[in-house]
Amino acid sequence: MISPSRYIDVVPMGDVGEQDLQDLAVSIKEQFGLRVKVSRNQGFPHYAFDPARRQYNSNLILKKLVDNALPAALKVLGVSSVDLFNPIFSFVVGEAQFGGRCAVISTYRLRGKPSNQSRLGCNTLAIRMEKEAIHELGHTFGLRHCADPSCVMHYSVGTELTDCKFAFFCPACRDVMLWHLGTDLFLKG
Ligand SMILES: [Zn+2]
Ligand SMILES: [Zn+2]
Repeated sequence: MISPSRYIDVVPMGDVGEQDLQDLAVSIKEQFGLRVKVSRNQGFPHYAFDPARRQYNSNLILKKLVDNALPAALKVLGVSSVDLFNPIFSFVVGEAQFGGRCAVISTYRLRGKPSNQSRLGCNTLAIRMEKEAIHELGHTFGLRHCADPSCVMHYSVGTELTDCKFAFFCPACRDVMLWHLGTDLFLKG
């Protein structure tokens, strides 16, 4: 049984729009059937800045989220606006602890090239954020990448591919997510 005290904590970091966060909270709640809280903005993750690359190390942000995670939060999703990288990739839109508690996404690459930004409606950005958030939270629930190109767990590099998939799980991924959700709650009481 899903305990009502369990929730997903959305942690804004820096320049993230309030309305985008509220929309994101609603769609996460719908997808996972859990309460969602939007926490106080933690400010830009300066501690993760890499001067040589002029980007932010997503591993360091994940570590900070893990260290600061409240005991009652089942999952924690950081939402940032800075350009993220990890040691393997030149950039990442999001990263998650596979089967763990924490994930982070960034709006930086989701906005597209500067020349396109004026043509990008806020709705487009909100939908991309929603897909990335559900995708990364899916990894925290133990979901791997899905071969179905319309599934939110499909691996998509670049906003064109992100735009092609839906903001929800295919039936197979949904089953696995619900199974993990049950196991997770069972293990943690
Ligand atoms: Zn992924
Ligand atoms: Zn799937």
